[in-house]
Amino acid sequence: MMMCREATRLMSLKQDRALTFRESTALRFHLSMCGACRTCARQFDLLHKIGRHHPDIPRASNDKGGRHGSH
Ligand SMILES: [Zn+2]
Repeated sequence: MMMCREATRLMSLKQDRALTFRESTALRFHLSMCGACRTCARQFDLLHKIGRHHPDIPRASNDKGGRHGSH
């Protein structure tokens, strides 16, 4: 079974590009069983939405080295 670390990595990756079918299936499967990662996924989604609508909001002290490659 996928570990939480891997699940978190996929969530983060998902903000940058679309996941492959295999990746998103694995992630969904993990989320269906792991409440902690579900909460985490919700926060990722929220951050992503906020980031889109308000691009000026600084992303959690991530603001040092330019705009691209934020992860
Ligand atoms: Zn998990």
